[in-house]
Amino acid sequence: GGQRLRLPPWLKTEIPVGKNFSKLKENLRGLNLHTVCEEARCPNIGECWGGGPDATATATIMLMGDTCTRGCRFCSVKTSKAPPPLDPNEPINTAIAIAAWGLDYVVLTSVDRDDLPDQGSNHLSQTVMELKKRSPQLLVECLTPDFRGDHDCVERVVRSGLDVFAHNIETVEELTWLVRDPRAKYQQSMDVLRYAKQVRPDVVTKSSIMLGLGEKDDQVRKTLEDLREVGVDCVTLGQYMQPTKRHIKVSEYVTPEKFSQWETIGKELGFLYTASGPLVRSSYKAGEYFIKNIIQ
Ligand code: SF4
Ligand code: SF4
Repeated sequence: GGQRLRLPPWLKTEIPVGKNFSKLKENLRGLNLHTVCEEARCPNIGECWGGGPDATATATIMLMGDTCTRGCRFCSVKTSKAPPPLDPNEPINTAIAIAAWGLDYVVLTSVDRDDLPDQGSNHLSQTVMELKKRSPQLLVECLTPDFRGDHDCVERVVRSGLDVFAHNIETVEELTWLVRDPRAKYQQSMDVLRYAKQVRPDVVTKSSIMLGLGEKDDQVRKTLEDLREVGVDCVTLGQYMQPTKRHIKVSEYVTPEKFSQWETIGKELGFLYTASGPLVRSSYKAGEYFIKNIIQ
């Protein structure tokens, strides 16, 4: 029960639109690509698609269908024990469409497919390979499931030729049972990140935490320290937003000042970059951050 919290002013922002935005949007038409940016009506679309001063355009593509085998309490994706089969042409078609689109940085994300023997890991790695074949300059990030901790699946994706391996821890250890699907475990996710770095130390690893779910400051700090401990290079922190009334409630709207403090702490802990702000999502301006903080 209880009242829902009122939306604070810093979340009622105008969507800024960068200079590349309209061009990219136009190019997208007819390519039959489903971007998370558009489908989730992400408020960062202008900034991500428009790019920064050097116009590093980033977009996020959802692979392996729109139905997940899991049911995390913060996520609005549909759930089924047996989602439809994978589209075997998706890796090639995605690569063709992205090559035609003219992006600089793509984030490939997916639903979890616990129903498949390889949990979809071959499909993901195939998509990266097709992308790199057609667009060798394109920077590719995979935001992956935990693969139930299966090292073979992690290794397959890490060896696909991607530039960034991302897996989201989502929340602090104490709230994991409440927030994520019961098959997702804090230590398991930490192990996935550790193993990815171990397989290819030159691959950049990345994770993301949502704030406003009832976590305590010392728990967030511990999570950041644990991420560094397993070799994670980059971290993002953003405000949790309740997608529908059936999802877990927002406990708190964390202030922009507080988010800045986490950014400072992230820097002190030695992350290559920490993106932290109310509207930050795990793929927020990923291309721009990568160019500014990692390539140089
Ligand atoms: Fe797309 Fe992610 Fe940027 Fe949102 S934050 S516009 S989903 S790339
Ligand atoms: Fe959503 Fe990912 Fe959880 Fe599936 S595993 S319900 S897509 S957050």
